[in-house]
Amino acid sequence: MNPKRKVLIIEDEHDISRILRDYLIKNGYEAAVAATGEDGLQIMELIQPDYIILDMMLPDQDGIDVCREIRRRNNIPILILSARGSDTDKVLGLGFGADDYMTKPFSLSELLARINAHFRRYDSVNTERDSPHLLRLSNLEIDKKAYKVTVNGSEVSLSAKEFELLHYLASHKNQVFSKAQLLDAIWGYAAYGDENTVTVYIRRLREKIEQDASKPVLLKTVWGVGYKFNHN
Ligand code: CA
Repeated sequence: MNPKRKVLIIEDEHDISRILRDYLIKNGYEAAVAATGEDGLQIMELIQPDYIILDMMLPDQDGIDVCREIRRRNNIPILILSARGSDTDKVLGLGFGADDYMTKPFSLSELLARINAHFRRYDSVNTERDSPHLLRLSNLEIDKKAYKVTVNGSEVSLSAKEFELLHYLASHKNQVFSKAQLLDAIWGYAAYGDENTVTVYIRRLREKIEQDASKPVLLKTVWGVGYKFNHN
């Protein structure tokens, strides 16, 4: 068994953060709480969490700014808690680097399912014996040990979920997947998820790895079916 995974909760509502912390601890995680964005960033540097739950409404800063700042520093997966459904598009669409979101009020067991799914996926990427840890395809190099991607030799910064989606498609090159299959494989909860998430992530990945995101040659859309990683 691995050492316990550390989850950092950045949330100023004490009732919520306390319940979350206790629930995560009860389910085998370590958990720390920060009540402001600034504290969150400091505690992140101190404890090096494996996962971050970030509330959008914080007293000192907008959660989106905190999200951006976390992403500027590292690729720890970030799950956003947002109060309004209307934030969803904003969170997913504008590239702050969040990996997932839940709308308040949320179910503790669903939140736990998502975190568990993330680590299952993470562990399986890291222990797949039948695939090499370095994938080289066209001008792209994917290092799954370091969670690092380079395009033409320059490193591109991907969030954990962006990395996992790209790695998944690239390790099954030329195989077509539906959005539902990708949602299930990468997020692990097709039943709850919104397939639009996949569309957004593909778009972000294209912007990062394609020469021209509007004319993708690697991440191809297969109309009416889904997506594939194209490679001869
Ligand atoms: Ca709050």
